Amino acid sequence: MKPLATRCSTVPRSAIRAIVGKSYGMENVISFGFGQPDFTTPERIIKAGIKSMENGETFYTPNAGCDYLRAAIADEYVSRGMKYGPENVIITVGGAEALCLTMLALVDAGDEIILQDPCFANYIGMVRANGGIPVPVACTEENDFMMTAEDLKAAITPKTKAVLLNYPANPTGAVATKENLEEVCKVCVENDLYVITDEMYKRLIYTEDKFYSPAEFPDMKERTIIVDGFSKAYAMTGWRVGYACGPEEIINNMIKMNENVVSCVNEAAQRAAYDALTGDQSVVDEMVEKYIRRRDLMVKMINENMGGKMTARTPKGAFYVFANIKKTGLTSEEFCYRLLEEKHVVTVPGTGFGDSGEGFVRFSYATSEENIEEGLKRIQAFIESL
Ligand code: PLP
Repeated sequence: MKPLATRCSTVPRSAIRAIVGKSYGMENVISFGFGQPDFTTPERIIKAGIKSMENGETFYTPNAGCDYLRAAIADEYVSRGMKYGPENVIITVGGAEALCLTMLALVDAGDEIILQDPCFANYIGMVRANGGIPVPVACTEENDFMMTAEDLKAAITPKTKAVLLNYPANPTGAVATKENLEEVCKVCVENDLYVITDEMYKRLIYTEDKFYSPAEFPDMKERTIIVDGFSKAYAMTGWRVGYACGPEEIINNMIKMNENVVSCVNEAAQRAAYDALTGDQSVVDEMVEKYIRRRDLMVKMINENMGGKMTARTPKGAFYVFANIKKTGLTSEEFCYRLLEEKHVVTVPGTGFGDSGEGFVRFSYATSEENIEEGLKRIQAFIESL
């Protein structure tokens, strides 16, 4: 038999799936593994999807997505002072496909794409699948897990094509300050780099600070592709609706590639997404309030009950705590797999998100306060037993 495509062997498997998979079949498991809201989609959004199907909207939709949803997304940017129109938007199967199409449109073999380390691990697979080279830049706890302009500058080579930024960040919950973004964007303009900004968690932000997109900074709009979606903020992971927004030339290429990948997103999901975006936003506020309570409970229990062996900074967004376990003397993998075996608690080794994740574990707090209390009690007992 002839060999299969080599690209598959360059793409890593998910560390999250690996440890969550190991927990299947175990009893009484508390999971901080998957990064998905534990809420079902708000009722009004579900009803919009059902109505669409009842109205017979069961056909293919345009490769670019439905006009009403593209326009609503563009309008939202306009309301934030960013000049985009429907022609700048493509609707995709989740943020994941928006990222994938962005890579297809931008990355040629040998192109280097600079990533935060640690980062959402699928970025690495998506870059490699297109023959690109992921270039990790360490984002340290001391720098609140932000990529500094100096570190970015040091990673740039003549082959660098783009920088992929993600704030609020998975797995660290980091939110870049305006000053940091300003400096990073300046470096990107000076070096003629594209910026892919994954803003999936932009509505899940827990500071007084306004959310800034790199596209808002001088000379950035023409080189920035924004990736976003409905999964996280509206508890719509299973509906699979996301989008990208950027320069028309890039979006047109993504639309062309979409025709060759999934063709289009089903209309019921797009109607539901339209309702999510244009309807009463108190459904998001209610979830945000719960995430803040859960985050505060988790960070407090980690910092007060673990005898200093596990510590955590208070993350400013998303729904992850990236806890430092260096003082336990265990590696991230040893910590997480022993914790699972001995206490039936799922966490994800920081190394699953890049080498700089060594010495850390990721918790998702998209789970109930009861689970957080019980899970952290078990972790306290585990740490005391070491
Ligand atoms: N980007 C980040 C940073 C994520 O954490 C995720 C999901 O975990 C995605 C993109 C993909 O989200 P979806 O495809 O569900 O919209």
